[in-house]
Amino acid sequence: MSDPVASPDLIVVGGGILGLSIAYHYSRLGRGRVVVLERQMLAGAATSRAAALLTQARSQPALIPLVRQTYRDIADLEQMLDDPLDLHRVGSLHLAASADRARELKELADLNERHGVRMRWLDPRDLPLLVPWLNAESVQAALFTPDDGYIDPYRLAQAYARAARQQGAILTQNVAVQHLLLESGRVTGVRTTQGDYHAPRVVLAAGAWSAVLARQAGFGIPSTPVRSQYWITAPHPRFPRQHPLVILPDARAYTRPEVGGLLFGLREARSVSVDPRDLPDDLANLSFGDDQGWASLGEGAGLLERFLPALPELAIQSYITGPSTYTPDGLFVLGATPGVAGLLLATGCCGAGIAASGGIGRAVATLAADKEPPFDLGAFRPDRFGVVDPFDPDFRRRCEQARSGKRSG
Ligand SMILES: Cc1cc2nc3c(=O)[nH]c(=O)nc-3n(C[C@H](O)[C@H](O)[C@H](O)COP(=O)(O)OP(=O)(O)OC[C@H]3O[C@@H](n4cnc5c(N)ncnc54)[C@H](O)[C@@H]3O)c2cc1C
Repeated sequence: MSDPVASPDLIVVGGGILGLSIAYHYSRLGRGRVVVLERQMLAGAATSRAAALLTQARSQPALIPLVRQTYRDIADLEQMLDDPLDLHRVGSLHLAASADRARELKELADLNERHGVRMRWLDPRDLPLLVPWLNAESVQAALFTPDDGYIDPYRLAQAYARAARQQGAILTQNVAVQHLLLESGRVTGVRTTQGDYHAPRVVLAAGAWSAVLARQAGFGIPSTPVRSQYWITAPHPRFPRQHPLVILPDARAYTRPEVGGLLFGLREARSVSVDPRDLPDDLANLSFGDDQGWASLGEGAGLLERFLPALPELAIQSYITGPSTYTPDGLFVLGATPGVAGLLLATGCCGAGIAASGGIGRAVATLAADKEPPFDLGAFRPDRFGVVDPFDPDFRRRCEQARSGKRSG
């Protein structure tokens, strides 16, 4: 009899939130044994660094059902584990302070309402009641999504992990995948630091490292790790513990409450990326440059100050940065790898991997079980850009631009 650990039905490479959500959904289907192989700690890489805004309103309709699945998963996991996951359902506010952004906001509202996202317009004069720190003088339009929230991303990932284990999934740590095992155009397993594992299907959910492994199979994943970063202020009475997420496209910024302080993220006009081959295994050793975010803060502070006049006086308590894998069109990379039977991809999360973790996990698990996915994955096809070299500087620049140009969520 074959060893069910070394010869499962499905191998998932990477124990970040996506690998864990896939394991949860696959084991839930009851179609066979899944093993997750994680090189470091579960959920210790990009996942634990996320700001974890779970915004439902998206300018790309294919994303909307994936995020809504995450909210359903949170409710299911809380019930299954009998453990509240502290989803902070504070709502989100998209604000526009220019005619162009106001027009985009109207389009966002029309699109998302058609997809069943509950939203309403607010009078900008009422905003200080909801968000006391906000200077709303220049705000022309304010769109409120009452059902949005944020969550501790590590806690959500661990909930997927616990539920997956309860359903029979095997989750490993300190097992690094070194090579994909390939035979006659199909994947047959992986070689790891702890020996070989064999399975008819392998999912690459190795986050920013996925491109290096996929290259072994001759496929260029169309994404690159781009710097994402945010700052957290010291607690201050002007920041209520519960108030809405605020998305400020005019300032290329977003905010959310964080234990009495304010978490704010800034997108640079010119984002920076790293060659995936140069990524260290441990993100604690990753540097996007020498400035530790100070240059971005200097560049973005002026724009944000228009809405947060107190910014220059605030004490910054933490700076968090990490790689977010971006594609040129801001959409994920999900589905079968062209030319390699049995190899599925789940990466390219464009700063939305926590928000869409439920939908991605369910969709990819269903594909791995040879069933029709519950969502249309056409927009996420891995080969939609044709043949791509993810290590080429010109291609990486296209991915950087996708982050700089992001306006919603
Ligand atoms: C600063 C920042 C803010 C963010 N804010 C948000 C937000 O507000 N909302 C949101 O939805 N998303 C946000 N994101 C994006 C989100 O964090 C990612 O989309 C998500 O965590 C991706 O999950 P993952 O499982 O693909 O990757 P990871 O969490 O990086 O997991 C990949 C795993 O694969 C493992 N691995 C790699 N290579 C191997 C190998 N050879 N063998 C075995 N294991 C391997 C790694 O060790 C790692 O644990 C943010 C990201 C950053 C950096």
